[in-house]
Amino acid sequence: MSVLIFLDQSDGHIKKNSLEAASYGAKVAEMLNTTAEGIVLGTINEDLAGLGKYGLKKVHSLKNESLNNFDAAVFASVIAEAVKNIGANVVIFSNNFNGKAIAPRLSVRLKAGLVSGAVSLPELSNGFVVKKNVFSGKAFANVAINTDVKIISLNANAYKINEVEGIAETTELNVPIPEAKVKVQEVNKVVGEVPLSEAEIVVSGGRGLKGPENWGIVTDLAKALGAATACSRPVSDSDWRPHHEHVGQTGLAIAPNLYFAIGISGAIQHLAGVNRSKTIVVINKDAEAPFFKAADYGIVGDAFEVVPQITEAVKKLKG
Ligand code: FAD
Repeated sequence: MSVLIFLDQSDGHIKKNSLEAASYGAKVAEMLNTTAEGIVLGTINEDLAGLGKYGLKKVHSLKNESLNNFDAAVFASVIAEAVKNIGANVVIFSNNFNGKAIAPRLSVRLKAGLVSGAVSLPELSNGFVVKKNVFSGKAFANVAINTDVKIISLNANAYKINEVEGIAETTELNVPIPEAKVKVQEVNKVVGEVPLSEAEIVVSGGRGLKGPENWGIVTDLAKALGAATACSRPVSDSDWRPHHEHVGQTGLAIAPNLYFAIGISGAIQHLAGVNRSKTIVVINKDAEAPFFKAADYGIVGDAFEVVPQITEAVKKLKG
């Protein structure tokens, strides 16, 4: 019996959201009076024993090059075998792209109940009940899992990384790797930017910015804050910004600590992807823009005047 956390990696480094999942899993293990163990697939550049500082007692790895390219079906198969070998009864993922792709497949393979998009620790006083967001973040549902193996995928930024003292025992997994049905021909990486799904601060622009030539005010503020950039759907549809920056109902759902919405009206489909942000700052020249209703701080003004002043103020503060 143990809690197994999938540690998603990119270029050999464990993603921040997976470290949140590790800390969350360590707490779940403590609540269940058992141990938290991690699983890493593919070539990894990190000191796996050092992952003990996130509360993991053991880290299982399968350092096979064929696992360096993500394939949800292959990963689900490998993790299913690992869960059986290890005897894990709770499996935790980050609810990121990869977690969203693996967890349902694993759920089918293991006939295990899955709660995706968990926002807090499970409630154990009456079974195993997990709280999750529903209706695009407008409500919560408490979902009971009553299968032997329980799977949870944890929303980004829903649980804080907690460092403790400890070194993890490391083991090499010995499970079969099925052949991938999809062959990766080429990988194009977005480099030099803060990944949007992991960012603590996001600066986002909408159609109010009038055109791609004006995006400097967004990227300058993002650079000053160490933030990721995002945009509304019409902006990416018009090719002003790349599609991976589009947030909302049909784009990425994010939950940063701080979200700047610049020249974005606040349509319900946009809010669906950003309303879990802890603090929302809206800059819009129309005082009646619906986004102000969802804002923690609102500035009624012309983005082209307001944003450069904020950027200068941030630069001054940071020295
Ligand atoms: P607009 O609605 O045109 O708003 C521009 C805003 O900029 C206005 O509020 C204006 O007052 C302000 N502004 C103008 N000039 C300035 C200035 N100089 N300074 C400051 N403010 C200024 N949208 C998404 O974003 N994400 C989604 O995932 C998404 N999914 C959708 C799914 C469906 C099925 C549908 C039907 C729509 C979806 N949409 C989505 C589109 C959504 O309904 C809105 O049309 C869109 O979000 C509007 O984008 P916007 O706020 O950038 O543009």
